[in-house]
Amino acid sequence: MIALQSYVRGQWVAGSGDPVRLHEPATEAVLGEARPAGVDLAAALAHARNVGGPALRAMTFPQRAELLKALAGKLHEHRDELIDIAARNGGNTRGDAKFDLDGASGTLAFYANLGLGLPAGNVLADGPGVQLGRTPRFWGQHVFTPRPGVAVHINAFNFPAWGMGEKMACALLAGVPVVEKAGTASALLAFRMAQIVVDSGLLPEGAFQFLAGSASALLDLLGPMDAVAFTGSSRTGALIRGNRNLVARNVRVNIEADSINPAVLGPDAEGGSDTFEQFLANVVVDMTQKAGQKCTAVRRILVPAAMVDEVRDALTERLRAIKVGNPLDGDVRMGPVASAEQLRDVRAGLQALAAAADVVLGGPEPIADRGYFVAPTLLVARPGDAAVVHELEVFGPSATIVPYDGTVAAAVELCNRGGGGLVASCYSDDRAFVEGLVAGIAAWHGRIWLGSEKTLGQALGPGAVLPATIHGGPGRAGGGEELGGLRGLQPYLQRTAIQGDRAVVGRMFGLDAHAT
Ligand code: NAP
Repeated sequence: MIALQSYVRGQWVAGSGDPVRLHEPATEAVLGEARPAGVDLAAALAHARNVGGPALRAMTFPQRAELLKALAGKLHEHRDELIDIAARNGGNTRGDAKFDLDGASGTLAFYANLGLGLPAGNVLADGPGVQLGRTPRFWGQHVFTPRPGVAVHINAFNFPAWGMGEKMACALLAGVPVVEKAGTASALLAFRMAQIVVDSGLLPEGAFQFLAGSASALLDLLGPMDAVAFTGSSRTGALIRGNRNLVARNVRVNIEADSINPAVLGPDAEGGSDTFEQFLANVVVDMTQKAGQKCTAVRRILVPAAMVDEVRDALTERLRAIKVGNPLDGDVRMGPVASAEQLRDVRAGLQALAAAADVVLGGPEPIADRGYFVAPTLLVARPGDAAVVHELEVFGPSATIVPYDGTVAAAVELCNRGGGGLVASCYSDDRAFVEGLVAGIAAWHGRIWLGSEKTLGQALGPGAVLPATIHGGPGRAGGGEELGGLRGLQPYLQRTAIQGDRAVVGRMFGLDAHAT
């Protein structure tokens, strides 16, 4: 059994307090344990601010980009070992694990490439300058500089690798040291990755620390230059946002929470068409990849009433063909959910959904004597007020077909009932329908993925988060935003308006293009 340790102030530290056990979800065997306390959190933060931050800021954007590139390579070198840990502790199939791990190294590599093209300093111009005085002599220029604080990253259990990799990439490139906290249930993978990062010796001292215990007390110690990036449930997100110290000191907080993501089938997308096939394929991937434990997975499948039977039958057939079992078996296509707690929540959630929807495949009943397995579960909402379908996130291999009348207005109303989402997808070749839908739902969603005949086979489905575009969403999705190219650095940079003699402003920040 592995006893997880934290890495703080240049040392691995054993935890203290009551242990939390980490399991192999396919067999329920105990693999490790984490203890919540035992780390001097104030000293860890001071180490990041006083040692890690200055060392990172002594480098330029391109130099830090080189670090990210090397880190991506290092993690890739250990890919097979990490895939095995993800299968054992996360219940991931090989495909699931690659999605998480390649997402981590891919995002690090993406930001490395981006950073290599940035100015060789620590200042980024934010757009062009602007004349502020009677003549262009008095000039204004917005600039971004790294904040001399620490980035605390609190991650969810479902993406231990990607969650840590994508957050680290942005903060480190910005020049801000990180304290990484993994979701405990699947933390063996993040722990091993932390060991690889530390053993690589690539990062300057204090730039990277790892917490195997609880992060809640840490929040009370943060100050105005620090930032918290949280990924997890709406409930924990609300607790963090409401933390008195964070509120009182205006600490930057980014919340990535849950979302009842809709997929809309347009009335024009006939059975057998490329658009229809794309819709089916993406819904099945979202329901079964990582056993449905993706914040971006489709939860509500909006289907014109006249097409419901056809969609139900086609999805049922494909979902039935998915082999569920121990992910270490090569032909298994879907593993268990990650923990006993998850299993309990998913079963309770499915029971709640069944009050408003008919279960047509799967359901909450156990499907194995051992292990945290759930059957792929498809439901069809009954006519009437199915509020629970629009409000309850069941974080497992489940989605509900919601019939609508085929109009844009009805689709918009149903999509937005989710109260703010991470991603909505639409499958249609009717331009007027697509444009109307986008106009009606854009403000309520962080991302809209449009599938059509022309996009078949072009890209990953809506469940994949790409570093070039933003991830996040309004309302219940947390109100946060991550990634999106250079936008992803903004939580760690301060924007300042510099006003004065145009030549001085330009020279001072190396923005000579703007100086006269
Ligand atoms: P969670 O229970 O909210 O936990 C998330 C993280 O917060 C974990 O690291 C957890 O640590 C920590 N935490 C718990 N209580 C805390 C507190 N009082 N103060 C500080 N940290 C605290 O969520 P989860 O079960 O891990 O993840 C599943 C949820 O995450 C789903 O709802 C899913 O939709 C959402 N999610 C969202 C995104 C997104 O990008 N929007 C991505 C992935 C998942 P412990 O594990 O040690 O309790």
